[in-house]
Amino acid sequence: MTTIIDGKVFAARVRGQVQAHVARLREEHAITPGLAVVLVGEDPASQVYVRNKHASTVEVGMASFEHRLAADTGEADLLALVRRLNADPAVHGILVQLPLPGHLNAELIINTIDPAKDVDGFHISNVGLLGTGQKSMVPCTPLGCLMMLRDHHGSLSGMNAVVVGRSNIVGKPMAQLLLGDSCTVTIAHSRTKDLAAVCRAADILVAAVGRAEMITGDFVKPGATVIDVGINRVERDGKTRLVGDVEFASAAAVAGAITPVPGGVGPMTIACLLANTLTACCRANGLAEPEGLTA
Ligand code: NDP
Repeated sequence: MTTIIDGKVFAARVRGQVQAHVARLREEHAITPGLAVVLVGEDPASQVYVRNKHASTVEVGMASFEHRLAADTGEADLLALVRRLNADPAVHGILVQLPLPGHLNAELIINTIDPAKDVDGFHISNVGLLGTGQKSMVPCTPLGCLMMLRDHHGSLSGMNAVVVGRSNIVGKPMAQLLLGDSCTVTIAHSRTKDLAAVCRAADILVAAVGRAEMITGDFVKPGATVIDVGINRVERDGKTRLVGDVEFASAAAVAGAITPVPGGVGPMTIACLLANTLTACCRANGLAEPEGLTA
């Protein structure tokens, strides 16, 4: 029987753990973790993400600071805001919602965030720390995938993992995390030869491609665990539907465990943002980090 890994249930559990820890911080240390989210412009998808992040932050008892800036905000003004947030002791996590309007240098802005407050884990220092196996802030989506894999398997040591996709946001950090847990890791991408055969060697197959239902059942080794990071909107029967990078029905028929879309990796991303904010707050105050919520 194939296990459907329920990201909604798992994310609710993570949020509950965060909420309990936040309550203890407040009672025992009079500290409230704070997350600042910066949105530049009016991209509709980004507005939805920012609204959800605000609601989730407040729900677990954290302070939420929202900064909505006009689409034509200059780079100097945005950098000045980031520096103010870096210096603000009430702010433990800073997230600049991507993508930024084209006239802004996203790399410069992300690398201006204090790495200790970089809850997205995109600052070059955090990338380097993760790559060298040191304590860092870890990107939320791959962290969520790792938590689900650890929960399902216990130890991942010695397993063959294939990550399809080599983006800085998902594929590369995912591969680093799996390597950190002693998997034998292959990173596949658009130039990989015979992708299906490469994927069929995987005990753990992570799809982060951005192509609707590209990974079908014949890419999956019998009994493998399939993590579908993809979020793709497709028109079907006159309706817009969300599908992953994995063709669920054919892959689920072969896999041992699989995450659905929606309701798999997606809900874990915001839960891990909250977990990262809590971790950043604990580190900033020299307190023990929450167990099971970090890499
Ligand atoms: P990118 O577009 O940045 O990267 C896609 C990767 O897939 C690239 O490395 C590309 O290879 C590879 N790729 C593209 N086509 C093929 C192919 N035919 N065969 C093999 N590899 C291929 O995407 P992201 O990493 O940002 O996102 C991936 C998916 O995850 C998207 O669907 C996105 O929406 C989703 N996502 C979901 C999140 C969540 O919260 N659940 C969060 C972030 C992303 P190459 O480098 O050679 O071009």
